[in-house]
Amino acid sequence: MSAFPPAGKVIVAIDGPAGAGKSTIARHLARHFGLLNLETGAMYRAFALKALRARLPLDEISALEALAAETSIHLEPGEEENRVLLDGEDVTGLIRNQIVTDAASRVSVFPAIRAWMVRLQQQLGSAGGVVMEGRDIGTVVFPDAQVKIFLDAAPEVRGMRRFDQLGPQAAVPPEEVIRALRARDERDRNRPDSPLKAAPDAVLLDSTHMTLDQAVRAAEAIVAAKLGEPV
Ligand code: C5P
Repeated sequence: MSAFPPAGKVIVAIDGPAGAGKSTIARHLARHFGLLNLETGAMYRAFALKALRARLPLDEISALEALAAETSIHLEPGEEENRVLLDGEDVTGLIRNQIVTDAASRVSVFPAIRAWMVRLQQQLGSAGGVVMEGRDIGTVVFPDAQVKIFLDAAPEVRGMRRFDQLGPQAAVPPEEVIRALRARDERDRNRPDSPLKAAPDAVLLDSTHMTLDQAVRAAEAIVAAKLGEPV
């Protein structure tokens, strides 16, 4: 018998840099193992959207903290992606552009903002039965998660995947997408509070030389092995 709880109670933590394939892989794992998929980046993005709308300077922690105190953010897991509610407003379609993306990585450096988000994320995932993806899930949010995967890929490969995702409306050259992604990585990896890094007990999955489909299958095999189930 497996030493792990049934899939309904399990927590699968997926961390890694931007464009490593976390969202695609988390979505597939959730479907395959009957888990809820929770994207924590969407929560930082929703808060960043609120800060931008309020025209707050993104480096003023006291103003950001005051804003956080009057903000509610909720994720509703869906088939394809999470529905993101910001103070009850569905902002799902408003948080993926480059301005919000950049702002999310700026507001997420502050310990007070992170502590608030971590609390919300722990509440959302506490019943288990979830795949949660982000940057600090296996290290900070759920350090006791039964399965931890750290996804990585070379920056150029991640940048090109992001560029392809953006499609023709990107209106920026691939080099610019790669540059923005490197800048975000740099900030995520070097912030003093919960920087992006693999938990010591995470399984590393480098998809540089894989198609996304191959990476999905590899992640499935990792989870199945941990849960003691056939794929
Ligand atoms: O994952 P996604 O690209 O949507 O995340 C947007 C930004 O939110 C990241 O660049 C990172 O700065 C921040 N983030 C974080 N911790 C998480 C999830 C996202 O700091 N758990």
